[in-house]
Amino acid sequence: MTDRQHAVSSSGRHPERGLDQHAGFDAIVVGAGFAGLYMVYRLRELGLRVRGYEAGDDVGGTWYWNRYPGARCDAESLAYSYSFSPALEQEWQWSERYATQPEILRYIEHVAERFDLRRDFRFSRRVDSARYDAESNLWSITTEAGDRSHARFCIMATGCLSVPLLPDIPGLDDFRGERYQASLWPHHPIDFTGKRVGVIGTGSSAIQAVPVIARQAARLTVFQRTPNFSIPACNEPLDPAFVAEFKRHYREHRELARVGKISGFGGLEAVPREQAPAADSGVLLSDRELETILEQYWNTGGARFIGAIGDTLLNERTNTLVAEFVRERIRRTVHDAETAEALSPTSHPIGTKRICVDTGYYETYNRDNVTLVDVRRHPIARITANGVETEHDQYPLDVLVLATGFDAMTGALLAIDIRGEHGSTLADKWANGPRTYLGLGVSGFPNLFTITGPGSPSVLSNMLISIEQHVDWIADCLGFMQRQGYQRIDADAEAEAGWVAHVNEIANATLFPRAGSWYLGANVPGKPRVFMPYAAGVGPYREVCERVSANGYEGFRFA
Ligand code: NAP
Repeated sequence: MTDRQHAVSSSGRHPERGLDQHAGFDAIVVGAGFAGLYMVYRLRELGLRVRGYEAGDDVGGTWYWNRYPGARCDAESLAYSYSFSPALEQEWQWSERYATQPEILRYIEHVAERFDLRRDFRFSRRVDSARYDAESNLWSITTEAGDRSHARFCIMATGCLSVPLLPDIPGLDDFRGERYQASLWPHHPIDFTGKRVGVIGTGSSAIQAVPVIARQAARLTVFQRTPNFSIPACNEPLDPAFVAEFKRHYREHRELARVGKISGFGGLEAVPREQAPAADSGVLLSDRELETILEQYWNTGGARFIGAIGDTLLNERTNTLVAEFVRERIRRTVHDAETAEALSPTSHPIGTKRICVDTGYYETYNRDNVTLVDVRRHPIARITANGVETEHDQYPLDVLVLATGFDAMTGALLAIDIRGEHGSTLADKWANGPRTYLGLGVSGFPNLFTITGPGSPSVLSNMLISIEQHVDWIADCLGFMQRQGYQRIDADAEAEAGWVAHVNEIANATLFPRAGSWYLGANVPGKPRVFMPYAAGVGPYREVCERVSANGYEGFRFA
């Protein structure tokens, strides 16, 4: 692919603001994050008339909303970036190994500008319904703002972690201080100086925010229900010589990442710093050998630690040894033994909940102004006007930060009233858990595509790799339909059932189902417990998708 269509917009950031009334397009794309932007780029190349809708008032998706202090990516910036334009990847300069949220947002804005992508989007438009009409073979899409448009194809680029959850704690709305949600953070900086701050949650978001807030606040209290495993990021400025050399081989690095050969953990790292995984199995390693490998990975940092020993997510014994290594590091780092114990995860195998990557998280608990409250032992009774009350204590607060997660993977799709053939709803179809073919199509919902949908590697990978693979696959499929004169594509019910069974089979061969994670929907009361992502890795998954398209899109029906 070339950069031939890269006219820079001269018409400003938001060219048109009027409502779409009964407007017709070839394709509608929902979401202007990494996925939606690239999808629009590819659809334009096919010569299709495209409309994008985005709830936020600008591009960025997850990086538009998640502006909490300390927010940065846990995939390395040189790998967590678009690969579709060789010119773009050569010219963009990342400043750190792991980019901050502001830097990633600047990058996305740059891409939108460089490829003139904003012009096809309408912003501040939350899509609330998408209905398929069999007679016209069109999707009809409405937004909360009142837009009404139709298109042959509807492509959901709605993100996997884009529906924030509030905790079901009594009195949440009674709090009279400042209240912030990590995933809906204000666009202006928040000054915690001199304030008593409480953070509820200890997932990836909180683990990044806590060290930064602690440096400013007068007092920080972290309310932890379940401890998570966190690996030091070992973040650092990128060395220009390293970057220059890396960029000389960018194409090769990208190719390795695409087929899952860079890291045992979905391509989160840019380059292998050692041979990875360092050992296929922990079973035959001596304690000393295991310690040496893990120490090496720990000291170079990042989520790739989970890939150090190849069977960490498959073998219980290996997993226990790796988990114990991390617990030992926590004990070494945190001075207070009781706090160290409370921070040490024991209720799930390491890696079966998304591994966290931090900068100084455990060290933060050595500060005089930071307290950890174990709400498993002392449950939060209520939130009052003045702070948080547990059964034993009161914690007066000026600021309350909620980092309580997302309705992952299915949340954003089910938040839209999606109706397929015969008026059947996606909510009904997925009442017992998501059912897709390849995470790309849903039987009974013709011409609907889900980018990084449930049943694909998505959240178990570097999202950029999975997004680009899905967008390319969809664009190629639409190109195939154009050439063949097809107007309609639908996943075959049998192929879908086979894929769902395969996704479950792969998950059940791992330790993933042992954790009450958001991968399983366990963080949302009443959500069916189904392991949603495809756990075989980006390489094998890509092979399946390529085989499907090479065989005339087997498992899909065209008309
Ligand atoms: P999360 O991992 O789901 O964590 C939510 C936290 O809130 C958990 O500690 C949870 O405790 C706690 N919580 C929820 N309800 C609660 C309640 N009623 N009382 C007390 N605690 C409660 O959410 P997240 O931190 O936003 O991260 C979600 C995902 O987003 C990550 O796993 C990652 O994939 C992605 N993310 C990535 C980055 C990055 O790239 N570095 C940064 C942030 C997020 P329990 O565990 O007990 O439910």
